Amino acid sequence: MKLYNSLTRSKDEFVPLNPPHVGVYICGPTVYSHSHLGHGKTYVSFDVLVRYLRHLGFKVRYIQNITDVGHLTDDADSGEDKIERQARLEKLEPMEIAEKYARSYFRDMDALGVLRPDVSPRASGHIPEQIELVRTLLKNGHAYEVDGYVYYSVSSFPEYGKLSGRKPDELIAGARVAVDRGKRDPRDFALWKKAGPDHILKWNSPWGWGYPGWHLECSAMSMRYIGDTLDIHGGGLENIFPHHESEIAQSEGATGRQFVRFWLHNNMLTVDGQKMGKSLGNFKLLRDVFEKFQPMVVRLYILRSHYRSQLDFTDEALESARSGFHRLAAFRRRLGDAGVAEGGPSEEVEALISSAETEFFKAMDDDLNTPGALAAIFDMVRAGNSLLDGGETPEDLSALAGSMDLLAEEILGLDLAGHSSSSESVEGLCHVLAETRGVLRKNRLFEAADRMRDSLEGVGYTARDLPDGRSEITRK
Ligand code: ZN
Repeated sequence: MKLYNSLTRSKDEFVPLNPPHVGVYICGPTVYSHSHLGHGKTYVSFDVLVRYLRHLGFKVRYIQNITDVGHLTDDADSGEDKIERQARLEKLEPMEIAEKYARSYFRDMDALGVLRPDVSPRASGHIPEQIELVRTLLKNGHAYEVDGYVYYSVSSFPEYGKLSGRKPDELIAGARVAVDRGKRDPRDFALWKKAGPDHILKWNSPWGWGYPGWHLECSAMSMRYIGDTLDIHGGGLENIFPHHESEIAQSEGATGRQFVRFWLHNNMLTVDGQKMGKSLGNFKLLRDVFEKFQPMVVRLYILRSHYRSQLDFTDEALESARSGFHRLAAFRRRLGDAGVAEGGPSEEVEALISSAETEFFKAMDDDLNTPGALAAIFDMVRAGNSLLDGGETPEDLSALAGSMDLLAEEILGLDLAGHSSSSESVEGLCHVLAETRGVLRKNRLFEAADRMRDSLEGVGYTARDLPDGRSEITRK
């Protein structure tokens, strides 16, 4: 299999350091809000990577962190901690915010069929590892301390910029002009920061009370769970600089060994051709998108574009994914229960499966070309339907079902048979319940209507009474 490596800027044959083991680390979410469609694109893409590596027989250890401290509102070294800021807004403890949105993240990812990582380490749970890494960097001469702050000395690591391709003077131009708090070079970045009196998330360290810089956790936790050298490190394209560049400097500065062999970056998502942003008012939370489109439709929509391409969100694109998903699901239903048949399939069906699978694996081996892989599946569905129209045998059905289950379900993670709860059926149930509640209220059976509302609250749904007397039930 070839993967595009951002470090070499070419598609390279993937060979792990210690086969069959593969260590994969993907930068996870900062848990201060619900997940948006961009998260969906990133984590569905890397989910397919992990599923495919496992299909190829590799023993994957998949680590994806949860950032619950140290990520500031300004991606440079200033601003407020995102978790603390949200805690203030919601009047909750920072760790309540982290817990609330981590749960929300996993709920959305489960719905999208994203397999859970093997370890989801939290930054706040790995402070000793991060302090240890800072101590090593101080010892190696890659860092210096100034009044409770510890900075990485970029000039001590000449390879800084090798991933992003930025030249030293570009780095200076891009860095904050203010050489504050004793920073020796504007390119230097904070490994450890001194906590002010109002800062809640802080720990004691050899440099006083403080908290880690955002880049530090990924170096510390990836090496803690995988080792000095990772086979694959991934994240969003926007993470290349400064986040991933700084991770390389920290890890290689500490160990003297290559940190990552394959760097993979997922491109961003736009909405109606525009960058998605809170200020632009086109922010798409997954939970809102799921109200209208079943999560598996969203997954198919994501996989229809290559992970290194930009993906544009439009209602038409989602509608088209919906009809595509229904076509796949209808074909899978037609094949029925994939019981093992006695003999083999007909020659035609055998040839059909073999050509679809050849195309599918060729596409997947080419840097996870999911649009190509999907095209192979749709070809099989089209040809399969017309072959079956001419008469079917249990052997044909079983062979086609087996192939669909492998390609679409196991590798691409599309739950065609509806094994996971379909949000369309939940939507249908909500309508039925809303109608029932409307009838209860109309007949002045308020006690029963209220009890129903409270029970729904208890399982995560909100009942709202509309001005026209109808009720509406939605997920909280
Ligand atoms: Zn990271």
